[in-house]
Amino acid sequence: MLQVKNICKKYVTGELTQVALDNVSVNFRDNEFVAILGPSGSGKTTLLNVVGGLDRYDSGDLVINGISTKKYKDKDWDAYRNHTIGFVFQSYNLIPHQSVLANVELALTISGVSGKERKQRAKDALEKVGLKEHIHKRPNQLSGGQMQRVAIARALVNDPDILLADEPTGALDSETSIQVMNLLNEVAKDRLVIMVTHNPELAEEYATRIVKLKDGKITGDTNPFEVKDAKEAEHKKMSRTKMTRRTALGLSFNNLRTKKGRTILTSFAGSIGIIGIALILSLSNGVNTYINDIQRDTMTSYPISISETAFDLTSMIKENSDDAERDAVKHKSDAVYGNPTEFNHLSSVSSSISQNNLTAFKKYIDDKKSEINKYIGDNGVVYSYDTRFDVFSYDKDGNLVNADGSTINEEGSMGNALTGKSGMSVSFGGMDEDAPGENYFGMMLPGKKGKLYSKVIEDNYKVVSGNLPQSAEDVVVVINDNNEIALSVLYRLGILPSSEYKELTKKLDAGEKLELKSQKIEYDQIIGREFYIVPFCDYYQKNDKGTYDNIRKDVDQIKKVLDKAIKVKVSGVIKEKDSDDNQVLSKPIAYTQALTNKIIEYTDASEVVKEQRASEGVNILNGMTFEPDDNKIKIEDAKKYINNLGITEKSDLLTRYMTSLGVDLSQYQNMGGDAKDAKQGKTSANAAQTPEATDMKLPEGVDASKLPEGVDASQMPQGMDKMDVTDEKDMAKAMDKYIKQAEDEFFLWVYDNNISSGSFDKNLKKLGVISLDAPSQIDIYVDSFEDKDGVSKAIEHYNDKAKEDDKIVYTDFIGLLLSSITTIINVISYVLIAFVAVSLVVSSIMIGIITYISVLERTKEIGILRAIGASKKNISQVFNAETFIIGLGSGLIGIGITLLLLIPINKIIHAVADNTRVNAILPVSGAIILIILSVILTLLGGFIPAKKAAKKDPVTALRTE
Ligand code: ADP
Ligand code: MG
Repeated sequence: MLQVKNICKKYVTGELTQVALDNVSVNFRDNEFVAILGPSGSGKTTLLNVVGGLDRYDSGDLVINGISTKKYKDKDWDAYRNHTIGFVFQSYNLIPHQSVLANVELALTISGVSGKERKQRAKDALEKVGLKEHIHKRPNQLSGGQMQRVAIARALVNDPDILLADEPTGALDSETSIQVMNLLNEVAKDRLVIMVTHNPELAEEYATRIVKLKDGKITGDTNPFEVKDAKEAEHKKMSRTKMTRRTALGLSFNNLRTKKGRTILTSFAGSIGIIGIALILSLSNGVNTYINDIQRDTMTSYPISISETAFDLTSMIKENSDDAERDAVKHKSDAVYGNPTEFNHLSSVSSSISQNNLTAFKKYIDDKKSEINKYIGDNGVVYSYDTRFDVFSYDKDGNLVNADGSTINEEGSMGNALTGKSGMSVSFGGMDEDAPGENYFGMMLPGKKGKLYSKVIEDNYKVVSGNLPQSAEDVVVVINDNNEIALSVLYRLGILPSSEYKELTKKLDAGEKLELKSQKIEYDQIIGREFYIVPFCDYYQKNDKGTYDNIRKDVDQIKKVLDKAIKVKVSGVIKEKDSDDNQVLSKPIAYTQALTNKIIEYTDASEVVKEQRASEGVNILNGMTFEPDDNKIKIEDAKKYINNLGITEKSDLLTRYMTSLGVDLSQYQNMGGDAKDAKQGKTSANAAQTPEATDMKLPEGVDASKLPEGVDASQMPQGMDKMDVTDEKDMAKAMDKYIKQAEDEFFLWVYDNNISSGSFDKNLKKLGVISLDAPSQIDIYVDSFEDKDGVSKAIEHYNDKAKEDDKIVYTDFIGLLLSSITTIINVISYVLIAFVAVSLVVSSIMIGIITYISVLERTKEIGILRAIGASKKNISQVFNAETFIIGLGSGLIGIGITLLLLIPINKIIHAVADNTRVNAILPVSGAIILIILSVILTLLGGFIPAKKAAKKDPVTALRTE
């Protein structure tokens, strides 16, 4: 039972107030077919909308089954419409893009009826109205009458108590009108049907009761229904409509599916912004990766190197430019001015050289809390030590060769063919017994956590045969990207026979022109090759006198030593991946830090080192005392020294002594100029202080007056006048005689000028002992230019705090070269970020607009949804779900198109840049973030329109065309 009690409704538009319902009271039975007749504008639709809960009354009450609706909230009205009311409109109000079945299902969807049941009930309802065949058609594929029957099916599917029809036949021809009327008549058998019409004939024919309306007032009722109710209608809540989020999503998805083209276009439009961002992101990602790669590559090849002996190029360059400014002073043309540039330069060069205390600095780096550790890159810090070793090998003829090329020249002689006569190679080393020969062995960057080699090695080199070092005893041969290695290296390593090499050097010496072809060497000739590493401590062999002889010049002795030397084996051949200027490995054979450690250990464990360590005061190599203050010890040591000398050396010593006294030996010799020159040449190194030979003619004895001041003639060895100074044996004999009666001064002279007692530390160094705390060089690897600057800063701070002697001086070569490039890179990065930001803004605005337009366009649909019971929340849910789907679609389409576009874009980049190093790649995280961003932006863009849509007055919405 439905009671309309004194309901008033007026519309206020601007100045005009239109009274649509003027105190209308009418009661409806639960089961009757009421026709409301009245002229246009009389308030029929308004009455129907109020009764249907679509419109609110101003005053009065609508009582449903005794329940007052005065205090009804929006939600109650929604539930009322959904459960109790079915609406049929003149203009059908079907959703055009959904199938007939979906249109009918909609009402059930809103009330939360799930899947199967919904479909079945919708089908049943459609069958009832005789449209079983048409359920999959679109509304626009049906005739007017059929559409109206769909509308009736939709109204009935929820089995409502009341069916409200607003001029259901208004748009139909009379024949179809009859069909619809028959249907309504059928429907009215078990419920209340209120039909508005201005067709009195139809009303007369079908309705059981006719209510006439005019100017918002009831002017007639053929079958009034009087209800006596004493008490006020009570208030009770309706069961509410429920629609889960999933239903909303499903509904939207369904909705979107039915208009695929439109949805795809909308998503595409929304995706354009995303594509923009994604492309720029990919590009900047590619460029950034490239820049970082380059920085890393550069920083791997040029770490910040701090050596024991530093040469501060930076400050020198600065000083020189300061000097240049000073020197640029213009002088008047009145005198001659001395230009100081030369001296200034010299002084700045010498003042730029300093010693670094790397022990203290290593301590600083090793402290995890030190500032510098923040900037150290993947490859960390590599400490190099002055490991002293030689490398030997046998060639295929069984000849011993040294990697520095020295032994392969002449059997038994250590003259170095390449560094010596032919002058092909620039080596300053010579064959000083202390200096390591030119070595073809270089240490490779160690990996992290005890790995033998760094990732940098794997990144820059390809293993062409064998494998990278697996143990300390493995080394690898490094070839360039054209599979080459210097021919001389192959000889020096004994891979090619030394006899051939000798031929070559002979030809070179003879001035012949060589036209050599490159030689092919199979990998298996190289892999597995063994080398002997001889640490310097092994060169010191104990002799009978208890001191040590250096056997480095004695091939036979060396061969003996090889038995206990460290053997290393070539484990692989590796090749540069691309011909980069930045070579990571600069030597043809690369060994691991593990080998360095092994050599250090080996040296520490050797007898000679142990013995030297045990006697801190005495040089065990020659039995002399280190830096004695006492003359007695010096004299003793000098005597020991002379005793150990051979004939030639004794003769030399005497010659040098006499020369030091200012005696011109040419006076005593009978030989020609050549021999004299030879002698002089031989001693020249130690006779720098010799006064220039005069043409003194003193055949006998020594003229005291000609001696330099302060030299006593009595000091001279006796019998000098009688001996032949060109005869070594004579000289040695004279020496032997002389030392028996020589004064202390002589021995002190011998000591000071011939014996370098050295020091304990120097001796250990000579033996190749290395303290792990005292590296000879520290290479700090960083990953980017920024980190490099950070390291520079950290060193600056370290220097601020350090003692004067501990200050670190180094040259930041990369900094000098690249300071401007860093700025350019930063500018590029900022520009790219700005691009991304701009496209983000553009894209979000675009998505917002698109969503807004799509809401506007669907106003009518909102009205329909409201009419069949959707709440405001349902509406915004549906719209939000829809924008969510569109946002997701936009994101996915955007990412998809971006990935497709990146294929040709990368091709173009590679063609333009002429390399493949810049690769625009969309990072996965970026793609995910963009999709999420797209969803969020679309939701935000759609949020306000969805809210607005939900707030739309359903009546107004329905009127929208
Ligand atoms: P009927 O359906 O009988 O033709 P209506 O109920 O649609 O008439 O309208 C009744 C009166 O209220 C009319 O004068 C109409 O102009 C007015 N009216 C209806 N809806 C509105 C509205 N939303 N705003 C202003 N006036 C309205
Ligand atoms: Mg009307």
